[in-house]
Amino acid sequence: MNPANQKLEKEITDRKQAEEALREREEFFRHLVEGVRDYAIFMLDPEGRIASWNAGAQRIKGYRAEEIIGQHFSRFYPPEDVASGKPEQELKTTVAEGRYEEEGWRVRKDGTWFWANVVITPVRDETGQLRGFAKVTRDITERRWAEEALRRANDRLKETNAELESFTYTISHDLRAPLRAMQGFADALQEDYADRLDPTGRDYTRRIAAAARRMDTLIQDLLSYSRLSRADLQLETVALASVTEEARAQLEADLRNRKAQVTVDEPLPAVKGHAATLVQIVANLMANAIKFVAPEVTPQVKIWAQEQKGWVRLCVKDNGIGIAPEHRERIFRVFERLHGADVYPGTGIGLAIVRKGMERMGGRAGVESEVGQGSQFWIELPKAEER
Ligand code: ADP
Repeated sequence: MNPANQKLEKEITDRKQAEEALREREEFFRHLVEGVRDYAIFMLDPEGRIASWNAGAQRIKGYRAEEIIGQHFSRFYPPEDVASGKPEQELKTTVAEGRYEEEGWRVRKDGTWFWANVVITPVRDETGQLRGFAKVTRDITERRWAEEALRRANDRLKETNAELESFTYTISHDLRAPLRAMQGFADALQEDYADRLDPTGRDYTRRIAAAARRMDTLIQDLLSYSRLSRADLQLETVALASVTEEARAQLEADLRNRKAQVTVDEPLPAVKGHAATLVQIVANLMANAIKFVAPEVTPQVKIWAQEQKGWVRLCVKDNGIGIAPEHRERIFRVFERLHGADVYPGTGIGLAIVRKGMERMGGRAGVESEVGQGSQFWIELPKAEER
């Protein structure tokens, strides 16, 4: 054989081998696709007629290959979509944009509908000529129902919450009127009838008045908690220095009575928050810091701020009785108190307001403490640029 012939022969064998390898690869992918059961994967010709079918397509849509090949793919669409020309439009978009994806209703052979995720891609030959489309369809009906159920449950929860909050609000309001009457008449008894009552009678009236006052505080605290849950808090730049100053001013009388020493480490940065809510929160923490201190001890409160990664943590540290580890979370819930009102008066709502207020401002609150070693309460908010 002359060299030219030899070369030709080699070229022919190489080409045959390459074609064989290509055929084997195609065969391999065809088998792979045919066996997939979770996805309907099939080909359309350029006019939208079905050209191939896999196990997933049969499982999801209900047709066997021999029933469906050659049919137009619009039969998978609900009648309104067919009428409006949606299937053809999808193919046009696929050609124009190189890909089409959507979620929508599709129809099975037995007429039932399923919610589908659909991806269509154009298939072209080496010259760029459109040969057809590859279509991958997934049945995501269950996911859709689950999402819908979740959405409905969420809506119901929001409704119940709103109802509950408005219920607390109304009831607290309505409770105050009869309470005022009790308080007023108990005071009147004490003032106008004191000489006609014996010491026991006077003691009883005093107790009625005191209990009524306590209940009034409780209702007022509940009202502020409920107001905080409902209010729309507009966040703005707030200087922590003025917040602590205002909280301190609000507690002026208590601080003086307890001879408390409050030191603030200046300067304090500014945060993104709601000024009035922050004042209430810091005042609650300061009030606790001077209240939960052994009677013979002079309260010492230290306030400072530390910054980390765009967040500001404001700490309020006391030299009080401290909190055991098992109670450190529950004290932030409404009505949770660790002591009787006779030892340390209070309503158990102060820290619930702290936690709720911080959450409403997108921040956090917490405590570090050891029994007998004092407590360090902290709140955290994003740092703001000083105005
Ligand atoms: P209140 O102060 O009205 O009792 P709070 O919600 O402010 O209600 O606090 C809940 C409980 O947490 C308090 O009753 C107290 O037992 C505990 N507590 C709060 N602050 C401190 C503190 N600084 N030191 C020790 N215990 C505290």
